[in-house]
Amino acid sequence: MEQILILKGQQTLINDHEVFLVESGEQALTFVKLTLVDLIILDIVMPGIDGYEVLVRLKETPATQAIPVIFISANTSHDDEAKGFELGAMDYIAKPFSTAIVRARVRNQLLIKQKNDLLEVLASIDGLTEIPNRRYLDENLSREWRRSQRTGTPLSVLLMDIDHFKRYNDCYGHRAGDDCLKRVAHALVAACERGSDFVARYGGEEFAAVLPNTNQQDAWQCANKLRDAVNALNIPHKASLNADHITISIGIATTEFGQVYAEQTLLEEADLGLYEAKDTGRDKIVARVIAASE
Ligand code: GH3
Ligand code: MG
Ligand code: MG
Repeated sequence: MEQILILKGQQTLINDHEVFLVESGEQALTFVKLTLVDLIILDIVMPGIDGYEVLVRLKETPATQAIPVIFISANTSHDDEAKGFELGAMDYIAKPFSTAIVRARVRNQLLIKQKNDLLEVLASIDGLTEIPNRRYLDENLSREWRRSQRTGTPLSVLLMDIDHFKRYNDCYGHRAGDDCLKRVAHALVAACERGSDFVARYGGEEFAAVLPNTNQQDAWQCANKLRDAVNALNIPHKASLNADHITISIGIATTEFGQVYAEQTLLEEADLGLYEAKDTGRDKIVARVIAASE
């Protein structure tokens, strides 16, 4: 069921949604930090910070900027309404209002929100393997990188690449290649156990895993698990030059001690590790620690 946050006692409006009522802008901002709501109905004139200011702060915060806001206000001048829309409100309802019309407008906003949420999910999923895609990786790696820099906690990235996959396609056909990619992707996702870790398709037959709050030693263990998981699939690959089944090579990069690095450095270093793993035999893991900055 959708969750709606309403400011200042309009509870007669809604009975087919889960509704939370708060009394002030400050309370609303505190509330949405802890509870993800689908819609916010805001009065403009309130004690403390007004509705406009609440909206500005919601829009400034990534976690809340996509929540649709409807103003309900006795301020009925066109200027007030225009200001509400300019700040990003989705709708503006003047008091006194018809309950039926407000219900209908709430329903419309919730429908739009549902579709936007679905689009957001679809845009982040790889069509073939149905695991997170490069877009998801870039956005979430960026967030984890900033968190790591801010808190001084380690962050590890693994880049993984299927060994001799071109030969696999040539030997078994492109469709079998697609099928193999799906199985490898799902095995990698299943083997990544910690809730904060994630695996994404980086492109072609390459995958990346982002491991927040993970030092090099733990990243190495995780990489071993991922490599074992792919080996355990035991997908025959008679054209491989390093095994009789599908294997992967892995490069690991870790930032430790909260050094300040360019964000792309992690991926570049992991790529260097992967290159070295390929160069020295495949079906193996090479870790690179980014040394403490001068
Ligand atoms: P290496 O061990 O050095 O990684 O060798 P490789 O053959 O895996 O590497 P290379 O980069 O030469 O070839 C990658 C192959 O992956 C070529 C490409 O056709 C195949 N590939 C990339 N994306 C897909 C896909 O979506 N489906 C299929 N079936 N094949 C793909
Ligand atoms: Mg490759
Ligand atoms: Mg490859």
